[in-house]
Amino acid sequence: MLRDEQVQDIVVIGAGIIGINVALALQRHGADVLVFDRTGVGAEASQSNAGAFAFSDIVPLATPGVLWRAPRWLLDPLGPLSIPPSYALPLLPWLLRFFRASLPDRYAAGLAAQAALMTLSREALERQVANVDAGHLLLREGQLQIFDSEQTFRASLPVWEERARHGIRFDLLHGADALAKLQPGLDPRFKHAGFTPDWLNTCDPAAWLAHLAETFRQRGGRIERAEVVALKAEENSVHLRLSGREVQSARQVIVAAGAWSHHLARTLGDRIPLETERGYNTTLPEGAFDLRTHLTFSDHGFVVSRINGGVRVGGAVELGGLRRPPDFRRSQVLLAKAARFLPGLRTEGGTEWMGFRPSLPDSLPIIGRSPHCARVIHAFGHGHLGLTQAAATGEIVAALARDIPAPIDLTPFSANRF
Ligand SMILES: Cc1cc2nc3c(=O)[nH]c(=O)nc-3n(C[C@H](O)[C@H](O)[C@H](O)COP(=O)(O)OP(=O)(O)OC[C@H]3O[C@@H](n4cnc5c(N)ncnc54)[C@H](O)[C@@H]3O)c2cc1C
Repeated sequence: MLRDEQVQDIVVIGAGIIGINVALALQRHGADVLVFDRTGVGAEASQSNAGAFAFSDIVPLATPGVLWRAPRWLLDPLGPLSIPPSYALPLLPWLLRFFRASLPDRYAAGLAAQAALMTLSREALERQVANVDAGHLLLREGQLQIFDSEQTFRASLPVWEERARHGIRFDLLHGADALAKLQPGLDPRFKHAGFTPDWLNTCDPAAWLAHLAETFRQRGGRIERAEVVALKAEENSVHLRLSGREVQSARQVIVAAGAWSHHLARTLGDRIPLETERGYNTTLPEGAFDLRTHLTFSDHGFVVSRINGGVRVGGAVELGGLRRPPDFRRSQVLLAKAARFLPGLRTEGGTEWMGFRPSLPDSLPIIGRSPHCARVIHAFGHGHLGLTQAAATGEIVAALARDIPAPIDLTPFSANRF
């Protein structure tokens, strides 16, 4: 264990998919990196998500007109979007920022920033796959985004146009037969879809993260179990106060603590409107369904992905904070819907899970230096896209830590933007 007077080169707080990617990228450039996590590797959101590298998801959640659509979704307490009544008041400042992000000019700027990060994410992932030899954990099967009706498909056309503008390849499909060619067993009521061939999945997000963490360790990186309680800027270092352990000092600190990151940022004086979009899923065992590609049921806010030969059904957004216990009726509702949409799906023997997506109101992460301490770099708030954007976030943070220009413009990702 390190003693007080020793100053670590770089400490990363959080061993989720973001923290481990950042640690690997820093290590690749010669840094001596120590990762702290209070629970262990991948114990939170990064553990059991849908496993998608969702490179075509460039549209922020706060779309123009969301203010008029959201109340309808909220009417169903087990619908795809929910806010527990007792959490509505604490959530209000975040919601106001969310609605502001949906104003047309802000939305357009957010989309452009997300698209730039996605292009980098796609390239960075391929670099990473080669660097850590992880091709065997990838599925290159694309994504079928399915619409309930011609009306909802037509409503999605502006988004497909945006994708085309940003160089994202897709095919728009019409007719149950065309859909069945890509995914047999889909209920024939579905007649409209878009297929994005460059979308990737990992066969298991937990195994993916474990492989990255193991590679980091084998190359000399250290991951220790400790909770960081507070950060303090010193003249030539940052002090980390740890729960039940001595103080640690580091020349640079990366905050990658997922949905809890704002609490740490606050100890430096940074006020960041981070909330959690809690999401739910059920993982069904091998043989549950012959899934050929990642399915997204756009009008219902859930996805179906292949995990280790089994099938994971999940999604939903519950803006309910970090303390409330999970309400697994949400995963059950999604599973019942999936059984209607995929009539051959065997729904028995599943494992339910809830995870805390770390989300900022404009759907963009914070990647950049703390406004109150230049030795601290924030890397959190990736919402629905943490797995997708993790390799790119690692590359960006490694550039910042070495004081060289980042590969994309980081202004839209600044901690000061709210
Ligand atoms: C149902 C669901 C499905 C999803 N599907 C996808 C998908 O298909 N594709 C995709 O790209 N994204 C998906 N996501 C989002 C993705 O899971 C998250 O964006 C991502 O996991 C966030 O990673 P993270 O490393 O920032 O946070 P986390 O994985 O939550 O890791 C944060 C870590 O920090 C540690 N920590 C927190 N506070 C402290 C502290 N004070 N001291 C020490 N350690 C601390 C925690 O123990 C934890 O290990 C999904 C999320 C959910 C919930």
